[in-house]
Amino acid sequence: MAERTSYDIVILGGGSGGYACALRAAELGKRVALIEQDKVGGTCLHRGCIPTKALLHAAEIADQSRESAKFGINTSFDGVDMPNVLAYQGSVVDRLWKGLQSTIASRKVDTVIGSGRLLSPTAVGVGEEVYEADHIVLATGSEPRSLPGLELDGQRVITSDDALRLDRVPESAIILGGGVIGVEFASLWRSFGADVTIVEMMPQLLPLEDESSAKLLQRAFRRRGIRFELGAMFESVKHADDGVTVALAGGKTLNAELLLVAVGRGPTSAGLGYEENGVALDHGYVVVDELCRTAVPTISAVGDLIATPQLAHVGFAEGIMVAERVAGLDIKPIDYHGVPRITYSDPEVASVGLTSAQVAERGIQVVEVNYPLGGNGRSVILQTQGEAKVIAEAGSDGSGPGRVLGIHLVGGRVGELIAEGQLIYNWDAEPADLAQLIHPHPTQSEIIGEAHLALAGKPLHFHA
Ligand SMILES: Cc1cc2nc3c(=O)[nH]c(=O)nc-3n(C[C@H](O)[C@H](O)[C@H](O)COP(=O)(O)OP(=O)(O)OC[C@H]3O[C@@H](n4cnc5c(N)ncnc54)[C@H](O)[C@@H]3O)c2cc1C
Repeated sequence: MAERTSYDIVILGGGSGGYACALRAAELGKRVALIEQDKVGGTCLHRGCIPTKALLHAAEIADQSRESAKFGINTSFDGVDMPNVLAYQGSVVDRLWKGLQSTIASRKVDTVIGSGRLLSPTAVGVGEEVYEADHIVLATGSEPRSLPGLELDGQRVITSDDALRLDRVPESAIILGGGVIGVEFASLWRSFGADVTIVEMMPQLLPLEDESSAKLLQRAFRRRGIRFELGAMFESVKHADDGVTVALAGGKTLNAELLLVAVGRGPTSAGLGYEENGVALDHGYVVVDELCRTAVPTISAVGDLIATPQLAHVGFAEGIMVAERVAGLDIKPIDYHGVPRITYSDPEVASVGLTSAQVAERGIQVVEVNYPLGGNGRSVILQTQGEAKVIAEAGSDGSGPGRVLGIHLVGGRVGELIAEGQLIYNWDAEPADLAQLIHPHPTQSEIIGEAHLALAGKPLHFHA
């Protein structure tokens, strides 16, 4: 006989979206079950954000030890001990995983480890057990995607999941896809000494970012010896014992030790009982409204499972929003343009708001400023190059510029600065508001201040 247990909310999937929903719902006094087939923390903690950033940090140390002489410090770079890099990466993940499990337990959320399936609009089954609830939240996330006819073998043709477990530095790698994941692996493998080529079908790396950011990244990658083929269509791959040969449309071929397929991630929704219970899917994504409600009144969906930006912090925000809605709080839809985006390569690329192409498409009259990092003391100390680009509505009748519509940063460590950028965008600030605020010197945050000073008509460290 099946055991039945009742909750206020049952959440299927314990990644960023699912566990954020669980924590907030419990805080609001709800009885919550969180069903996870693997480890709470999901892709972000175990196969995504955290392990990649640990590798990128190790990569930065490799570069610094190679380049230390330019700062007058003599060191020698003796190589990369990949098993020990993985041990460091694993220790970071384990520590955060332990912390997360104890946070979840401290909120009295019941974690159920097992594979779940939607049984009805108010029940999820895990083996013989049935978990009933007034509300169900689907948060089963996403998994790596491939292209038709491109078979992944986990050895020569691999996904980011395999790449994160690789206990050696490949001598050479082809990366299919110049989006965030592809660019981050290109950056870190190059720092570790690999010969890297990115194949991207769009005309720029990071196709969702502003063209000027992509150009600066491409220039920096060229200097670092990272090759890329833009506007290039993948045609086929041949495996051999010692490597792969990738053919592109037009006849060009590339050879390398392995091929990393980073062409995006697709939703995990097949075979989980979603459609049978009235949840609509579109290309596998659960269809929701702006408050993450599905067509079934008792079911919501959050995170990578829905067609919103595939970012951990988007999952957190959607999970929290759903918990608050179910608890009867007053909530607002998320403005997805106001979500900060970061690519943690060297150099980093960070942005919030609209790109120049997007404002042009909407026919908005704007003014723009590009402030080079060469004018910023801290960036020169760090020996990093790049820029801060700010786009604001053009003022009317001789008034200064209006609302800031987009902030785009490129350079070492600039990812941390976009937190200020999101306040500017989301609080509808104008350059004149920012021009009054004092940024600490010498910090990289001054590039945000300087760009807004220039837009407000009073540039400081800026060439006329
Ligand atoms: C290499 C890489 C790097 C990334 N870097 C960043 C970054 O720097 N910053 C950022 O914001 N985002 C990053 N992301 C994206 C981020 O990881 C995802 O957006 C985020 O994890 C989505 O959260 P989620 O809860 O929707 O899904 P997931 O984290 O995928 O969680 C879904 C969970 O559901 C579980 N599940 C699935 N089916 C079932 C079932 N039937 N029963 C029980 N449990 C089930 C899975 O085991 C999983 O734990 C990265 C992703 C990758 C792959």
